[in-house]
Amino acid sequence: MNGLCAIFGAALSWWSACAAPHPGEFDPTRLGYAETTAGRSLVSEAIGKANIIVDKDERLALVAGWEQSAWTADSVPVHLIVGGSSNEMIFVPKGCRCVVITVLVMQTWLAEASDPAKADLAVDGVSILVFMMLHELGHIACGDEGVVAFAPLPKNASDTNLVRNDEKRREFAADAWAADHVRRAFTAGHPGFFASMNVQFALTAVGWNLARRRMIDNFGASVLRDPRVFFDQGYTHPNFELRMLVANELVSGTPAAKALRQEFESMREKGDDLRCPV
Ligand SMILES: [Zn+2]
Repeated sequence: MNGLCAIFGAALSWWSACAAPHPGEFDPTRLGYAETTAGRSLVSEAIGKANIIVDKDERLALVAGWEQSAWTADSVPVHLIVGGSSNEMIFVPKGCRCVVITVLVMQTWLAEASDPAKADLAVDGVSILVFMMLHELGHIACGDEGVVAFAPLPKNASDTNLVRNDEKRREFAADAWAADHVRRAFTAGHPGFFASMNVQFALTAVGWNLARRRMIDNFGASVLRDPRVFFDQGYTHPNFELRMLVANELVSGTPAAKALRQEFESMREKGDDLRCPV
């Protein structure tokens, strides 16, 4: 078990849930989905890169969900699905030691992650997908699949808020698990050196694009500290830009990354709720 998992897990009483290996069982029809062959090559490449970043002794080896003959006791199958009503791109379903990707949502997200017509940085789809998969492995390492139902989002998911709850803490913990593995792989001689370097580039690009869109495309939002930008959207996940800033800080450990994260957090604290009172 990873130290970060232990720290967050102990704080949230999931210690005992971290993480007895068992084969993944996933029935997409139970969630109203069907498995698809779309996206396999992209996901296969990301699986390979994620696996060389994660230490073998974690016993968390991603494997194609459509290649069941290759599964072992350490395997975490990745299933590709279509259909259903969930807009979650990637998640660990309750009770399954597996990762599920909603292919259409993933493709849409990747297409919008960078706008070449503006001053966005290009986002390498494979590398950002690697980080997302590591995040999901972080959930499994912390035993979240036993205690959390990840889908669907609650009806009030569009609410902006700064509520601190266990769901959001689990998301930060999974991000921290992923960032810690990326950071550790970025050492000379590690087989995941180049893969982790590219994940760091991708995180930087996503963070830059989010900040650029907030500050330039939508400059009033920062001046007004608009909660729609700075607060959390709904009650299951923290603000996505903040998550990227925290991940960048954990991976790089630089004073600049820390300052960016602190600046964003101070904007959150100073943000006023601009919605009409009900
Ligand atoms: Zn998550």
